[in-house]
Amino acid sequence: MIPFLPLKDITAKYADEINVAVNRVVSSGWYLQGKENEAFEHHYADYIGTKHCVGCANGLDALIWIYRAYIELGIMQPGDEVIVSANTYIASVLAITENGLKAILVEPNPETLELDDSKIEEAVTSRTKSILLVHLYGRCAYTEKIGELCKKYSLHLVEDNAQAHGCIYKGQRTGSLGEVAGHSFYPGKNLGALGDGGAVTTSNKELADCIRALANYGSTKKYVFKYCGRNSRLDEIQAAVLDVKLRHLDEDNRLRQRVAAYYYENIKNPLITLPKQLPDENNVYHLFPILCEQRDELQQYLSENGVQTLIHYPIPPHLQECYAGSWNENALLITERLAEQELSLPISQVLADKDIEKVVVLLNDFK
Ligand SMILES: *Cc1c(COP(=O)(O)O)cnc(C)c1O
Repeated sequence: MIPFLPLKDITAKYADEINVAVNRVVSSGWYLQGKENEAFEHHYADYIGTKHCVGCANGLDALIWIYRAYIELGIMQPGDEVIVSANTYIASVLAITENGLKAILVEPNPETLELDDSKIEEAVTSRTKSILLVHLYGRCAYTEKIGELCKKYSLHLVEDNAQAHGCIYKGQRTGSLGEVAGHSFYPGKNLGALGDGGAVTTSNKELADCIRALANYGSTKKYVFKYCGRNSRLDEIQAAVLDVKLRHLDEDNRLRQRVAAYYYENIKNPLITLPKQLPDENNVYHLFPILCEQRDELQQYLSENGVQTLIHYPIPPHLQECYAGSWNENALLITERLAEQELSLPISQVLADKDIEKVVVLLNDFK
């Protein structure tokens, strides 16, 4: 079986360094809010290109704290609107609604699968305060037009960089393109911990300070609570592991890009559509999505022939039970069609050449 993502092998690749890091924390007797967080935050901020990085418990919390901070700082009010791509993972939407903000779902471009920048302006109202820009599947979703719209309507640009660690847009990393960004270190992400983890990057000190407090019970000083926060901290063990893996992230992303290049060059089947590649784009291929009208048959066929695939995502946020009645069910036809046709192929830094070739042969034989 060619597994979708062999986490065991991905960890094994750097096992020696990871073991040293984990053992250092274990024997130190210091497990939270210590040197490991400090070092990782420093290195990750440097890597992304922001002044600050705040570690937190997971990617969803990172995004929740960002919008909560905007509210605490009086920059946004509950009821304000945030534009977000309709085909994102539900965490992006939850971070908005959890804060009493309204998620305005905008369709993706069906060719790139990223937020369609030609559909943003018609969604802007007097209550729109922000765009939550999700770099979905590892590709930068930022465009100059999005930057112009943010300026024109004074929108706060927030990035959901959970799927695009290391991606570069015109010399700048995603996660430094907007005012603030949320990152997830869920094990399966390009930069993954051995458990949950997340971070916020920003060059805005006020936001960084507020978020650091919110993720630590709302505390600005020991036993002094400025906000009603929560316990949402990054473990020292995870920070130590992430610091090791960060050093290899660019190399690992290049290996993913190699797999993607092979797929692009060799998958040739009229029943299968690959996302359009744009000139000069940088993509760190968190996932490799393909589209197929016979998606379920294709998945079944691949599975019978020893290839595991996944669907990202089978039910879009607006059709989930938790959001019943929140949006008009039929208004997001592109997103719904993508949910029926999307299939993610195996891609990782440890996928063997013979396995990549096997996947392609099977795809090209599919009728
Ligand atoms: C994974 C992910 C998140 C949430 O991250 P967790 O660490 O799992 O909470 C948020 N947004 C997107 C787009 C993601 O893929």
